[in-house]
Amino acid sequence: MTARALRLATGKLLELPAALGRLNRACRTFQTFAEVLRLPTRQMMKLAFPLQELQRQLTPDSRLHLHVKTFDPSLEDISKAESVFTTTGRNRIEYLSSAVRLDHAPDLPHPEVCFIGRSNVGKSSLIKALFSLAPEVEVRVSKKPGHTKKMNFFKVGKYFTVVDMPGYGYRAPEDFVDMVETYLKERRNLMRTFLLVDSVVGIQKTDSIAIGMCEEFALPYVMVLTKIDKSSRGHLLKQVLQIQKFVDSETQGCFPQLFPVSSVTYSGIHLLRCFIANITGNLKTDGL
Ligand code: GDP
Repeated sequence: MTARALRLATGKLLELPAALGRLNRACRTFQTFAEVLRLPTRQMMKLAFPLQELQRQLTPDSRLHLHVKTFDPSLEDISKAESVFTTTGRNRIEYLSSAVRLDHAPDLPHPEVCFIGRSNVGKSSLIKALFSLAPEVEVRVSKKPGHTKKMNFFKVGKYFTVVDMPGYGYRAPEDFVDMVETYLKERRNLMRTFLLVDSVVGIQKTDSIAIGMCEEFALPYVMVLTKIDKSSRGHLLKQVLQIQKFVDSETQGCFPQLFPVSSVTYSGIHLLRCFIANITGNLKTDGL
């Protein structure tokens, strides 16, 4: 090796710790709210309240259209809600069973929330992120889109059940009608349906079918906008405003506030945990 090559190699080696540090920061996720609270205020607000942060970019006129304060918990409430999603000796979070028909679904007394959305919308990733404080819970992510043909039930301690519904848009409507429609129409302890929309592409035709179904059955549902880390801020703002307009003008049962999330950066995940704890009656906040 020449002296020059040696110097170059040594230089690169010396740069390694700094590069690793950068990589570590870039890959770091903020799964617990305590970690979020240690961040500088601006970054903390962006992770905790992504919709409010987006709203700040808008002109005063457009700002009026976004319902950012319908659910407005305190930072303390968001911290408290985390215990519901954390495995402890007294709070077991576990996968219960899967079912292809409603009469095979577990009969539980707890309130239930379900997640529906097109294949590839980011449903499994979102459920994984929500359950990241219970890492022993296995959320199966199917490799092939549309492969999850079952309803998967997860028990969150004595608090509530989470149901991961099969993705639609692939081989639907047969699977959808057989399983999802019957479930949505007949599940008695279903408290809230979370309908996932990919924020990159907005509401698609199959999403409209699912929205129509929720409206027809007069279900209370909530729109969650996934993958918000993937778009530029301008694109995201455009999508959010379009979807908000749609919710305001075309829906009855949809909760007025949108929940933008990223399962990669954990933006919006803590707020969503708090919302779920709240609507299932496990956290009393003044925020709703
Ligand atoms: P599902 O079919 O709805 O369960 O979707 P998955 O959770 O399997 O996600 C589909 C693809 O989108 C996968 O490649 C994920 O890694 C990716 N994905 C999911 N959520 C996010 C997110 O918040 N941000 C980014 N950048 N990618 C995501």
